[in-house]
Amino acid sequence: MTTYYSGDRGSHSMTTSVTYSEFRRRWHINKFKKQLKQLCFLYSDSLRLTPFTAYSSFIIAMLGFFVTFLTAASFVLGTPTNPTDIVARACGNTPTPEEVLAAERQFAADRAAKSTDTYRPLSATLQVYFHVISEDSTPGGGNIPDDQIRKQMNVLNSDFSSATVTWNLVNITRTVNSDWFSNALPNTPEQTLMKATLRQGGPNDLNVYTVAFRPGVAGLGAPSSILGYATFPSDYHKKPSDDGVVILFSSLPDGATPHYNHGRTMTHEVGHWCGLYHTFQNGCEGEGDHVADTNAEASSAQGCPAGRDTCKQPGEDPIHNYMDYTYDTCMNSFTPGQIQRMSEQLRTYRGLS
Ligand SMILES: [Zn+2]
Repeated sequence: MTTYYSGDRGSHSMTTSVTYSEFRRRWHINKFKKQLKQLCFLYSDSLRLTPFTAYSSFIIAMLGFFVTFLTAASFVLGTPTNPTDIVARACGNTPTPEEVLAAERQFAADRAAKSTDTYRPLSATLQVYFHVISEDSTPGGGNIPDDQIRKQMNVLNSDFSSATVTWNLVNITRTVNSDWFSNALPNTPEQTLMKATLRQGGPNDLNVYTVAFRPGVAGLGAPSSILGYATFPSDYHKKPSDDGVVILFSSLPDGATPHYNHGRTMTHEVGHWCGLYHTFQNGCEGEGDHVADTNAEASSAQGCPAGRDTCKQPGEDPIHNYMDYTYDTCMNSFTPGQIQRMSEQLRTYRGLS
């Protein structure tokens, strides 16, 4: 039930009917205005200023204080000032332990149902469709040159050589769309539309999208710390148009993001696309990342912390593994167990024989 108020409360005269909450709101605003005026008059008296000058300078001083506070807060929180800077690596593929358990049960059943021997070593050449999204035609606006994409493909092929998977670049598409460029984060309508519009090929064709992950009002939104995300092979049948890898445009070789500009973000995300979890998945508990020869790791490693050892199980944390969160220059390997898992996942879910 709504109660309407009208009449006098002290010096506050109400001429129209309003709700009680609205009445209280107006009363508090008027009280604040009076106190502000009194403060300004005191201030003007002591400095012999007119009330108007005092009132204006008080507002300017408050604004100055507010801006200073925001700047200090942003410094303390470590918010990058450059949109392409990243404070720490983050990736969008973070399934819960329950989701991993359900996916692994399904994987065991799906693998068993395959007529092919999924355990045989894999040797395959897969096709790559590279989609460059930008806000304008400049490299700084996301329109990365062909040369950088070729360098990225070289890094990817070098990193996957131990897995005997070769990646063949078929074509590069270029789309100017500032909405997709800024907002194509995991599970957003922007990423869904972007992929539905541009994706090419079937279950074993890799589609890569480069964007900025810069949500918010243009120029004012804090950049996301996310470097990329990918769909897993088992996701394909649910929504084929969503399949693919999305990465930060400045993470390519020679890109503008310090520590994460040697192309290892794409290697990491393609690892997910081939069925790998993070090395720190499930922490020190249970079967971790469901790969036997990656040492257990309580949490993601940042930078390149040599000798880090966060679990009681034997062995140091796998900080040099492509599926951890360390600097690009710190990463250099997949384990034989991860290569085996990729082979099984690609054969089970991406139609490879
Ligand atoms: Zn990841």
